[in-house]
Amino acid sequence: MPIEEIEQILDRVEGVIRLPCVCRRVTTGNMNARFYYGLTLDERLSAALGDSFSLEILSKGEAITAIRNLDKEGLVHSVWTFKTPYIGGICNCDQDCMAYRVTHARGHYPVMFRGEYVAAVDLDTCNGCKNCMRQCQYGAIRFSATNKNVVIDARACFGCGVCRSACHHDAIALHARLEDPVAANIW
Ligand code: SF4
Ligand code: SF4
Ligand code: SF4
Repeated sequence: MPIEEIEQILDRVEGVIRLPCVCRRVTTGNMNARFYYGLTLDERLSAALGDSFSLEILSKGEAITAIRNLDKEGLVHSVWTFKTPYIGGICNCDQDCMAYRVTHARGHYPVMFRGEYVAAVDLDTCNGCKNCMRQCQYGAIRFSATNKNVVIDARACFGCGVCRSACHHDAIALHARLEDPVAANIW
């Protein structure tokens, strides 16, 4: 999910709590890697749970700023519903994420689904610096030595949009997945 939609979600909640990642605890051994943002309907709930649950209580503004910074680092945002359509939390993942590993790296079964968008490069603006390639967790960006620019494989793109923050030339934009002739039915 792109950062713009994360901001829209955060704008509608009253409280945000940041917790240590379960996945990173398992995959890296780090017990205090805090990339999970729980959304509550009432900040009094967060306050009531307090320190005993190892929670950090953030204001909406603090949460948005923190997640924007994660976006610049290339961490992919996803929402998790604990009973759809209720959104229980926002995750910010890289390849340490167990959902990423199960879905993408090992291809066992889908836990993490794609966003409503697909990224594309403006070939007239791209200078081939490759910054965006390092940012993409899904290997969807390919460099053309012939044309000295990059192209995005719509089939591989998850629509997270974090490649945009690595591009200093504003050469990458998202468009609607459903209107993409290649990626419309790939979730
Ligand atoms: S899905 Fe991502 S942010 Fe959420 S707990 Fe796992 S690694 Fe952490
Ligand atoms: S190319 Fe697609 S999957 Fe890769 S970072 Fe950009 S939007 Fe995300
Ligand atoms: S970061 Fe921008 S300019 Fe550099 S290769 Fe990617 S799209 Fe092109």
